[in-house]
Amino acid sequence: MILAVTMNPSVDISYHLHEFKLDGVNRVENVRKTAGGKGLNVARVITQMEEDVLATGVLGGTLGDYIVQELKKSDIPSDFLKIEKESRNCIAILHEGMQTEILESGPTLTKEEGADFLGKFNDLLSKVTFVTISGSLPKGLEADFYKKMLTMSQKKGVPVLLDTSGESLRKALLHKEKPLAIKPNTEELSQLLGFEVDGRIGSLKHALDQELFKGIDWIVVSMGKHGAFVRHDGDDYRITIPKIDVVNPVGSGDATVAGLAVALKLNLPVEEVLKTAMTTGMLNTMEAGTGSINMTKFDQYYDLVMVERID
Ligand code: ADP
Repeated sequence: MILAVTMNPSVDISYHLHEFKLDGVNRVENVRKTAGGKGLNVARVITQMEEDVLATGVLGGTLGDYIVQELKKSDIPSDFLKIEKESRNCIAILHEGMQTEILESGPTLTKEEGADFLGKFNDLLSKVTFVTISGSLPKGLEADFYKKMLTMSQKKGVPVLLDTSGESLRKALLHKEKPLAIKPNTEELSQLLGFEVDGRIGSLKHALDQELFKGIDWIVVSMGKHGAFVRHDGDDYRITIPKIDVVNPVGSGDATVAGLAVALKLNLPVEEVLKTAMTTGMLNTMEAGTGSINMTKFDQYYDLVMVERID
């Protein structure tokens, strides 16, 4: 079973408006509410791939209850640390071809709550064979929190796929116990390294040659419609994908993480791992729902992914 961690989940609300009136009253008829957060997208896609997953993290209040209910409706088992503070709302207003987002930062956790979660995480590690950690940390937790989770996972021999950015990613990469895999995009790489990384092979190779990435077994740099660039076991791969009609690209990175986690957990050969991850990413862009794929299209698109080893 795969454990999918989301430390700061949300109830995502999208409002569809013809016109967004600033400093006026906006009445909304078309409202969509979903359980949000990157790790929850990962859990949803893993479930759609018919693999066992357990969603965990920290949530609270009535919004926390709503998230658990929504997960139940989608047949996703969960075991979250419940806190008294309310989980967050994230609002997307879709208007005139634009998207205006209002993202609450979420509850501030105390040191005790952080420690309580680590205790839960340690218990859950005994039940699972793979862990995905997605997204940012809630306020109140130190940037080395994921590093602590890596140490615990390593002790129990459970590999971790870490999909985060900024300081918490840097801290985890500098740690002696490494994640098995990471999935940055070029923007996250640039931010992490402090210099511009673009989609050219030379630029990507230069980025991944940095000391920070030593000892990471799988580095999957996802590049939207341009597929991905991957370094694994000292070899570099370019992955190209077909042109597809995109309905909603939000959550594609999470769907890629889900595919990657399932394939790595199943110990598939390199080419199959990479083709699976790209296919789940692509399938997500073809659905209206964020972090959602239609598995009946899997084989058709899987066959169109090209993996090429490059020198
Ligand atoms: P992130 O959301 O983390 O930035 P990407 O945008 O790189 O992730 O998307 C992850 C994967 O989803 C890509 O590697 C690709 O397989 C698929 N994907 C994303 N956008 C597109 C697109 N416009 N066309 C085809 N596939 C896409």
